[in-house]
Amino acid sequence: MLADYVLGPAGYEVLTAEDGNSGLETVRHFDPQLIITDYEMPELTGLELVEKLKQNGFDIPTILITSDNSQELVIRAMRAGVSDFVCKPFEANDLLEAVKRIWPDSPTLAPKPEASGSELERRVCELRALGKIAKSLTAELDLEPVLNQVVDAAVRLTGAEEGSLLLVDEESGELYMRATQNFDQEMARNLRLKMSDSLAGEAMRNRTPVTLSSANAHKIATAYLVKDLIYVPLLSNGKAIGVLGVDNRFTNRSFDREHVRMLTALADYAVIAIHNASLYEKTEHERDTLDAVLSRAEDVVILVDTENKVLLCNPAARGAFDVEGNSLEGQPLADVISHEDVLDLFAQNCDDGRDCTREIELKNNKVLYAHLTIVEGVGRAAVMQDISHLKELDRIKSDFVTTVSHDLRSPLTAILGYVELIGRVGPINKAQNEFINRIIFSVQSITALISDLLELGRIEAGFDVDRKPTPMRFVIRYAVEAQRQHLESRKQALEVDVPEGLPNVLGNPLRLKQMVTNLLENAIKYTPERGQIAIRAHSDNDMVIIEVSDSGVGIPPAQQTRIFEKFFRADNADSATGTGLGLSIVKGIVEQHDGRVWVESKLGEGSTFIVVLPAYVPQPV
Ligand code: ADP
Repeated sequence: MLADYVLGPAGYEVLTAEDGNSGLETVRHFDPQLIITDYEMPELTGLELVEKLKQNGFDIPTILITSDNSQELVIRAMRAGVSDFVCKPFEANDLLEAVKRIWPDSPTLAPKPEASGSELERRVCELRALGKIAKSLTAELDLEPVLNQVVDAAVRLTGAEEGSLLLVDEESGELYMRATQNFDQEMARNLRLKMSDSLAGEAMRNRTPVTLSSANAHKIATAYLVKDLIYVPLLSNGKAIGVLGVDNRFTNRSFDREHVRMLTALADYAVIAIHNASLYEKTEHERDTLDAVLSRAEDVVILVDTENKVLLCNPAARGAFDVEGNSLEGQPLADVISHEDVLDLFAQNCDDGRDCTREIELKNNKVLYAHLTIVEGVGRAAVMQDISHLKELDRIKSDFVTTVSHDLRSPLTAILGYVELIGRVGPINKAQNEFINRIIFSVQSITALISDLLELGRIEAGFDVDRKPTPMRFVIRYAVEAQRQHLESRKQALEVDVPEGLPNVLGNPLRLKQMVTNLLENAIKYTPERGQIAIRAHSDNDMVIIEVSDSGVGIPPAQQTRIFEKFFRADNADSATGTGLGLSIVKGIVEQHDGRVWVESKLGEGSTFIVVLPAYVPQPV
């Protein structure tokens, strides 16, 4: 009927739908410019329709026709984004006017009959104002403007002379004026109202609005008289946190129930806005604190989002990597930092449980120890500590050990020589012979330790600069041959699988053989008699991969990351002799050849050491 007799003749093109669900479909297919819906509809109410449309991303002005103008419905409708109301019963012109309010340039309207629905019009107008206020209020995040806007809106909506917003002073329990409109400033600053014997306190205590309407002025505080007044409580989760009030001191224009309703609705929005603003204030404060901590921290902190775009780069990070410019946020990491090691670190995928750590050397010879972690829901963060002093200590310690080892070697050689001579210069008994053997064994162990230390010192110092294309097939064969006897004595089976076409590695052949030997010796040592040992090699993507595996005792998971440290021996090593330096030498050699080494091991099942070295690719002449 509306389509045929009201909207159609007024020049609008109208589509109709019988119920909420088909309304939803119509909107989806035809994307209209305006929706007019009854609140009461089968299956889906008009309000649910608006809510659904909003969820689906439609933002189409909507007029709700309803006979229920309860406060709950009005507030819910406004929250859902309803643009206007038309209350039943209504006349054709009321509807056309509502349309006109949304589209001021729409076709001409029939002349409005005098005095028709003026009350309804006033109400709709007020509701529209309230809707607008609510929108701007909930968008504001600073507490001060929020409070001022609330009071300003209260005065405008009710046409009152003055408005005030009172909050509770936590210390004294009294109400004080937090924001005012048209109040005498001096008065507003000093006004304090007791909770027990004031009208504002009454609204708080009873959690209901309080009104006053009298021909004679009423005293609300010392020397403060008003004629009409409304106080509505600000209720947050059922608890009153303050009072919103309007009053008239001079005019005789009393407030009505509508005004109380409007103020109550406004108070609801005010509470949401106050809540938002305080949350925002709190978050801002926390952010400032965090900023202060990060900007003073000596550690380098870099935070990126899931697309490797910078979220945070603290001053220490800027200093370390010579980052220039102020607004780095949102820029790709590679545009901000050029240090390759940092980019490599962030290129790692640290969600596979592996530790994402790396040492990063800076131009000024400082060394940072970087740790990359996933920050759930944000991205990834790298925290880097300056370990230059530790590096220096390590160097001094290594120098010391190398010097001492060197000086120990000559006296030890002398001891060994003389002990071996004892038997030749005269007869010795069985017990003496046994003691001599023990001395020889101990001196040999110390000599082995010293040799390992000296080797490691040499590798770490980078003395072996001499490199040539080395066929790993031969290196492995020599290392295996040297262990044959050892293998046979332990009755262990060895499988060797090294393809003929394995590419060369650019390096020092003796060191590479030493690396394979150390791994093989360990495999033999930590595998019981008759166990299986295998050495396999293959190439992949310009890399040579060597795997030494055994069916031995395995390494406890918690200690697997530590076995490459100097002198570290895992709990499984009790029965075997050793210095704890073999794998440090392996790691030193591999790293000197720009490779990587790691272990995969299961306790009681065996271990596999994997070495990856760059293949030597001859440059075309
Ligand atoms: P060690 O002289 O003690 O063998 P290494 O540096 O060669 O010193 O090895 C360090 C530790 O790693 C060993 O003490 C042992 O606990 C463990 N380990 C090394 N290789 C193996 C292996 N193949 N199987 C089990 N554990 C091993």
